[in-house]
Amino acid sequence: MEETYIPNRFGRFLLMALEQSLGTPGFQAVLGRAGLRHLSVYPADNLERKFPVGLIPRLMTALEEMYGVEKGRDLAFQTGRVCFHLGISDFGLLADAVSLVFPLLPSPVRARVGIEIVAEVFNRFTDGNIQVRKEGDHFLWVVERCGICQGRTSSSPCCYLLTGLLHETVHWAIGRDSVHVTEVACAAAGGPHCAMEIDLG
Ligand SMILES: [Zn+2]
Repeated sequence: MEETYIPNRFGRFLLMALEQSLGTPGFQAVLGRAGLRHLSVYPADNLERKFPVGLIPRLMTALEEMYGVEKGRDLAFQTGRVCFHLGISDFGLLADAVSLVFPLLPSPVRARVGIEIVAEVFNRFTDGNIQVRKEGDHFLWVVERCGICQGRTSSSPCCYLLTGLLHETVHWAIGRDSVHVTEVACAAAGGPHCAMEIDLG
């Protein structure tokens, strides 16, 4: 598969979030397991597309190998939540504007705005090709080329980094934690793509 790249800053946030979630010793151990010790020096904080997407599935695999599948996926979910908070600070003005207008809007509209903002950022800076649509009373997030699981094979959906990121996005947007995000299709588990069903609860 041809190597694709995401902005250094995305890789930087991922590594920072991973270190926060695992603690520094756990983080260093996962890097070692993945054969990626050089990443303990974070990439530069810029938008140059120099961070190989293929490193992400290697990190996710190492997480599951080190902590076991269940705990490893919990930690990936937690890492995704932290990624959202690191990322949103980049959109300070937007976040301020949103927080002024949001209380006036119903939850499904707020959720949709939050999800669309994240999808737009990813579509601008990565090759995933994400589409968001409403289906009945939930949202569906479909990513055609998922960078989290690319090249992996798994007996069950494994993109918990994204599940956590979307969970926290909607939590932030609607101001309550009732949201459920479920990966209903995963390319690593034989699906045609990866898809997240987002239920506001
Ligand atoms: Zn995936």
